[in-house]
Amino acid sequence: MSKTINVLFLAAEADPFIKVGGLGDVAGVLPRELRALSNDEIKLDVRLVLPYHPAVKAENLRPLDLFSIPRGDSEVGVEAFETTLNGLPVYFIGGEPIRANGSVYSLDAAKDSEKYAFFSMAAMELPKHINWQPDVIHANDWHTSLSLYVNLTKRWEAGAKHVAGVITLHNLPFMGADVGAILESYGVKLAQTDLPEWARVLPLPLGLWASDAIVAVSPGYAGEVLTEEFGCGLYDFLNLRKESLSGILNGIDMVSFDPSVDKALSVNYSLDTFNRRTENKELLQEKLGLARDPNVPLLAVISRMDVQKGVDLAFTALKNMKRINFQAVILGTGDPKLEEAARELQTLFPDKIKAELKFDANLARQIYAGADMILMPSRYEPCGLAQMIAMRYGCVPVVRSVGGLKDTVKPNETGFVFEKMHHMSLVSAIKAGMKTLTDREKWETLQRNGMAKDFSWEASAREYLKIYQSLVK
Ligand code: ADP
Repeated sequence: MSKTINVLFLAAEADPFIKVGGLGDVAGVLPRELRALSNDEIKLDVRLVLPYHPAVKAENLRPLDLFSIPRGDSEVGVEAFETTLNGLPVYFIGGEPIRANGSVYSLDAAKDSEKYAFFSMAAMELPKHINWQPDVIHANDWHTSLSLYVNLTKRWEAGAKHVAGVITLHNLPFMGADVGAILESYGVKLAQTDLPEWARVLPLPLGLWASDAIVAVSPGYAGEVLTEEFGCGLYDFLNLRKESLSGILNGIDMVSFDPSVDKALSVNYSLDTFNRRTENKELLQEKLGLARDPNVPLLAVISRMDVQKGVDLAFTALKNMKRINFQAVILGTGDPKLEEAARELQTLFPDKIKAELKFDANLARQIYAGADMILMPSRYEPCGLAQMIAMRYGCVPVVRSVGGLKDTVKPNETGFVFEKMHHMSLVSAIKAGMKTLTDREKWETLQRNGMAKDFSWEASAREYLKIYQSLVK
């Protein structure tokens, strides 16, 4: 008889219901890939739970019976819904704290704490109402990490069976705001943890403390969080938990991101019809209002406008390339100061640089298919998806040697890599790229190497399965 592992997978966002960033990509694919690993010996019943943000787009939602969770002297109502996505059961949790804070992530830390604390509490009550018991609770980042803390401490109090907790660490610096008072109002006590004092009231550290396994989104990042430079004050604690820390590289959706069938492209191509890629470059140049010229190097930035991503460094590098013949497109939204800096660059070099300050998934795909190089000079990069998508489309990445970028881009084999967080190091790497670009044969080898890489989720999902199996004996 086959063994079943039930996994309750919690995230703040998941494609195609709601997506803001890379977490949405991961939570949109990993639960389905995990279910797909089920075979005669093992069945993985993974179920996804998401907040019912006002912007969620979902069809065929069936309401579950209303329930509530105690808070202070009263109760907070939980409105839960269920649906399925290609066989994956999906649950949405709604209620006043989620409705009150419209966007997925707000700039108001206190409001976000209220929302995600409520979500995490309610999600731990959900199994009772669907008559299904998880063996593993799998949380992602600070938003859902309190579920692990509540799971552990409440079960301790009740003397109930241990349910394993796994947390995937997508971004360590974001730990959430002080939830001491919120937890107290829900009747959850703060435990004596071995966390640093400042961290004992923050959602992410509490979740890390309560988890049985901590998974960073790349092996490189798993190593980095143990260092003072990247450990955000938790490196001592994480070093104590080293045995339960590992790194599993995120994958990309190889079906959705496939230049041979991508509907966002006017001209599809594959390794066999590689020559057709140039048409995409020319179409992109035309669309952006740049000179149509297959020989001029076309650079791209597709990123949140955030200092983490080093876009400021990319802009300074481009500014310093006055005497070089190139074109560049910047696609991104975020920090208004960085958006302004992108606009200024376009004003400074109107014939060379185009700033598209918006979120546009189709344009992103057209850029991956048309640009020669993508620049990713990140200050830190837990995994990074853009460099993998770029390689899949034959767009060569120029990346800083950090986190998941270091794990996925091989110098002079699939891209160009630099070490120092300085714009001149990036300029040197871009110049090395441009030099190779003049040798068509060499360049095509780089592109083909990247396109041939397997960045599918299957291998990563198998690693997660191994972790579940080690926890559920
Ligand atoms: P992060 O999650 O840190 O933002 P990743 O590289 O892991 O960075 O994932 C970013 C994802 O969002 C990629 O799929 C990238 O193509 C996409 N993306 C980023 N900015 C934009 C934008 N302005 N328009 C469309 N897609 C974007």
